[in-house]
Parts: sequence; structure tokens; C-alpha cells
Amino acid sequence: MEKNIKNILEQEAFTKEDPVTMLRSEGIERTLLFQKSSEIKEKYIGNKVWFRGLIEFSNICGKDCLYCGIRKGNKNLKRYNLSDEEILDAARFAYNSRYGSIALQSGELESPAVTDRIENLLHRIKELSGGELGVTLSVGEQKPEIYKKWYDAGAHRYLLRVESTSKTLYNKIHPNNKKHDFQRRLDCLKSLQDIGYQTGTGVMIGLPFQTLEDLAGDLIFMRDFDIDMCGMGPYIEHADTPLIIHADKLLPLKERFDLTLKMIAIIRIMMKDINIVAATALQAIDPIGREKAVKIGANILMPNITPGRYRDSYKLYDNKPCTDDSAEDCQSCLEARISLADAEVVYNLYDRP
Ligand code: SAH
Repeated sequence: MEKNIKNILEQEAFTKEDPVTMLRSEGIERTLLFQKSSEIKEKYIGNKVWFRGLIEFSNICGKDCLYCGIRKGNKNLKRYNLSDEEILDAARFAYNSRYGSIALQSGELESPAVTDRIENLLHRIKELSGGELGVTLSVGEQKPEIYKKWYDAGAHRYLLRVESTSKTLYNKIHPNNKKHDFQRRLDCLKSLQDIGYQTGTGVMIGLPFQTLEDLAGDLIFMRDFDIDMCGMGPYIEHADTPLIIHADKLLPLKERFDLTLKMIAIIRIMMKDINIVAATALQAIDPIGREKAVKIGANILMPNITPGRYRDSYKLYDNKPCTDDSAEDCQSCLEARISLADAEVVYNLYDRP
């Protein structure tokens, strides 16, 4: 007999079929799922949210991921690269606003110039904050020795989404060449973890060809890999990318959104105390999407603190929200939103106690 949600939620350990049942839940079963994940968040984390200031410092990218708006092949895009001073100003803003940490994110480039630049920035960010501001890096696949260099320079968290843990699906959403190799992505995650980073990963939800079994596999992978952070969001098509030809195969946006909430709830139930991001892409679908994610299990928000004039060019997907706001706008808007979600922002703390 197939287990129902109630049976599943009473368990301590989950089989690989359990997440599929949870992802299928509707009505009262879906409510039970969300109640359970809220309870677990409350118990293990509290009704709290941490801010991580997001600096999208460059949209120059050497890769050609078929879903991504900043892929190398997209010529309908103004490329930018913030100056070091602009990045440091944004870091100072985060520090002065008492954010515990920032995330530096960009397109993917591997070169000695990039390595040195990031190393230098890390030192200067540590300096300007007296070592207090935590730094998450999200700059893609790199050699283990580069990851180590940046770790030694003060980066402690790294976010590298695996995008999908199904090799077949991964190969459908990336070009088939050495630059987009599934095994390398896994190796990178392993080396980040071995070096000692708090390692974060995640997937896109609602991709063409993706099944509930694929998503269940993603959840099991994250549990077995013992990740420290999770950032997952709905896939949102972008008109200037190759994957747009499959737009007719996609679930309606609302269903992708709902599936993302379920994924967040399930990973909270499975992994209890990890950091879970309420992804910006949720807000592209529902104006209070991130707040809904906070209610059912997410505990990290990433206010965009990229200088306003560049935001429009970091368009990973269509309809990206808040691209004409300033960092101050994001701060006050988010605070109001968090209190609406009955949660409280924690300032000045890089790590949870
Ligand atoms: N290059 C960096 C980060 C930049 S992209 C890295 O590899 O880590 C950050 C994330 O945006 C990607 O990992 C991907 O999951 C997400 N993304 C890209 N295109 C998207 C789309 N069309 N819809 C939703 N999310 C997308």
C-alpha cells in the first residue's frame, strides 16, 4: 500500500519515493506538508530571516547554459563589470546596514586575472569590516586550488547550483562539450566541501523534460551530500535563450511556483537546520513569493545591493523583479515584507548562534 503524507511526515528517514508523494500532495495533504515544514523551521531555526546582500558584480560569462539570459551567446545584452570600488562600496553598504554577510555573484570565467581580483577583493572586504562581514562566493566552476586560495582569503561559503542531478536532464539544458560537464560540476561541489566551505547547491524547478522523480532525486542528492545551504528557484524562460523553443512544454508559472514551495518544504523537513534561500525568482511569479517561502521553511533572503544602473543587465530570466530599485529601497521593502510573514530579521550576525 502506498504511504500517505501523514505516514511519511511521521518518519525520521525518507526513501527515494517519499519526496515524490510529497511533491504530488494537494489540498489538505499539501497543507499538512507546509505545516510540518513551518514547525521544523520554528523549532530548529526560529521565526527568523538573515539578510545576505547580493552583489551581481559582472554579467560577463564564458559559458553557454541553454536556459540562462547571461550566457555567452546572448548578444542582446549589455555586458558590465563593476569596478573594485563599486563592489567595495556595496560591501560597505551591507556592513553599515548591519547585514551579517554578502554574496558575490557573477558570470563564469576562469583566469588568473579573475582569481587575483577576487582574492584581493576578499582581503579588502575583510579589512573594511574588521573581519566581521561574511562572504559567500558564487562564481561557478573553478580549479580546487583556486577555491582554496579564496577560502584562505576569507570566503567561507560557496553557492554552486548543480541545476539538476539527473545527468540526462543536465545534458539537455547544457551544450554537450567539455565546458559544460556534469561530472565536473559534482567534482567542484566535492572539492568545495573538502576545503571546508559551507557548501550550497540547488536546482531549477519546472525545467522542460523534468519529472517529479528527477526532483525527488535532487532532494535525495542534497541530503546524501549533506549540503549546508540550499538555493532553489523556479525555472523562468528567457526569450533570448535556446531553451525557449521548449516553452510549450512547461508547466504554468503558478505550478512551477507551487512545486518550488513544496521543494523548499521537503528539504526543510529532510535537513532541518540548513540555510535555505528564498530565491528572487519566486518573486518574479508572485509579488509575495519570497515571503511565502519564508513562512514554510526558508531563512535567508538576498537583498540585491548591486548598484542600480547595472541591475537591468543581470537578467537571468524574463521579468526579473526590482531591477530599477536602489539598495536602500530593497532594504526597507524587505523589512516590511518580513514582518508581514511574521518573521524577524537578524542583524549583525554572520553565523547563526
Ligand atoms: N555563474 C554563477 C552564477 C550565476 S547564475 C554560477 O554558476 O554559480 C545563478 C543561477 O541562476 C544559476 O545557478 C541558475 O540556477 C539560475 N538561473 C539561470 N537562468 C535561469 C532561468 N532562466 N530561470 C531561473 N533561474 C535561472
